[in-house]
Amino acid sequence: MVRQREPIVAIATPFGESAIGAIRLSGLGVWERIKELFILKGNLKPRYAHFVKLKDKDGSVLDEGILIFYPSPRSYTGEDMVELFLHGNPLILKKALELFLSKGIRLAEPGEFTKRAFLNGKLDLLQAEAVGDLIGAKSELSLKSAQRQLQGELSSLISSLRNRLLELLAYVEADIEFSEEDIPTLSKEQVISLLKEILKDIDKLLSTVKTGEFLRRGINLAIVGKPNVGKSSLFNALLGKERAIVTDIPGTTRDFLQEILTLKGIPVNLIDTAGIRYTQDPVEKIGVERSLQKLKSADMVLFVVDVSSSLEEEDLNIYSMVKDLEHIVVANKIDKGVVEEVLRSFPEAVGVSALTGYGLEELKDAILQRLGLHVSNSLQVYITVRHENLLKKSSEVLKSLIYKLEREELFPEILMLDLKEALNYLEEILGVVSTEDILGSIFARFCIGK
Ligand code: GDP
Repeated sequence: MVRQREPIVAIATPFGESAIGAIRLSGLGVWERIKELFILKGNLKPRYAHFVKLKDKDGSVLDEGILIFYPSPRSYTGEDMVELFLHGNPLILKKALELFLSKGIRLAEPGEFTKRAFLNGKLDLLQAEAVGDLIGAKSELSLKSAQRQLQGELSSLISSLRNRLLELLAYVEADIEFSEEDIPTLSKEQVISLLKEILKDIDKLLSTVKTGEFLRRGINLAIVGKPNVGKSSLFNALLGKERAIVTDIPGTTRDFLQEILTLKGIPVNLIDTAGIRYTQDPVEKIGVERSLQKLKSADMVLFVVDVSSSLEEEDLNIYSMVKDLEHIVVANKIDKGVVEEVLRSFPEAVGVSALTGYGLEELKDAILQRLGLHVSNSLQVYITVRHENLLKKSSEVLKSLIYKLEREELFPEILMLDLKEALNYLEEILGVVSTEDILGSIFARFCIGK
């Protein structure tokens, strides 16, 4: 059952010069609203690439391009849709947008096209969320997992849990309605064992949340240490490419250099906090304070020392700033030699050489392990915190239900209510039940035009 809402419009390609810029429009009677702006040969055919000219307010040609009309319900949103491909000049796209706005079509909110697709049943909520993840994915693994979610893999796992609860519910309901008749019922033990199996699968999904969150937002990693210990070199060695500036002159690394790096497929947002140093200078202190604030947002701090020379007070000063944060001590320049005292001070340090690459794999493993991340090849769908919350609620209801079942005789009506509650949380994940608040918070994170 498709519902067509008021027409909306948005530029769907990024701002800037490009060969092609796309504008999409969706909603009830959208073509009727805009058709007089176009010159096209012949009649408008569904799903056909028409060569068109777009007329400016004064009737002159603003641009020419390709227009495709998708009548409802066979479109992304399920509504009537128009996609227009013009030359990718921001001025053209902005003017075209203004022309459409002047026809009473409103600017789309972030994610509104996908939200409408969801509301029209084109996607379930998990798939709609995957669209956002897909666009924002910063590593191949993130991309792959978003793609699998879009293809419905996570949906089918959750749906299967839902179906199993529904089946159980059907038994219980039949038991209530036909209690006098001779129909097959489940024993209490059977119910408990079915519930336990469902719980096991919920737990499996729950175990993917941490990796899922990091796959989506990236690990915030900071590399700190006194000048010249090899922070930039380590960063480059991890990145695998020469990107940051490496010099022999202390303090030349640019502040807050940010690059995308991946660790076993998980994106890493690298915070190169060159500003972290010990200083008495009041002006410098402001910079240090700023860097310290930034450091607090790190999920993991790599504290680098030069293992080939004795520790200095500055090493220890910097260490005191990071020791309470999640950190790993990296003993760099191990190729140059080892000063035993350094290892005695930091026995848990991971020895590496940014120069030769020695120990880098161990360091990567240590980071992932410390953050509790598991990248497996078999299960490549990962849940989000939103799904985690709901799965946990569902799991709690089921656990307490098992607890009650194991200890007392339950009225089937109570059993039914609990099952329904657990079911409801799963349905919220899929979007079978949803409220405007939930949808608002999900789609607000999308970009406009999606
Ligand atoms: P930063 O100031 O901490 O960012 O240090 P840099 O990365 O700029 O490195 C300072 C110097 O140490 C450069 O000359 C690097 O080539 C050198 N260096 C960095 N890592 C290693 C290493 O593992 N072994 C050796 N032998 N030299 C290194």
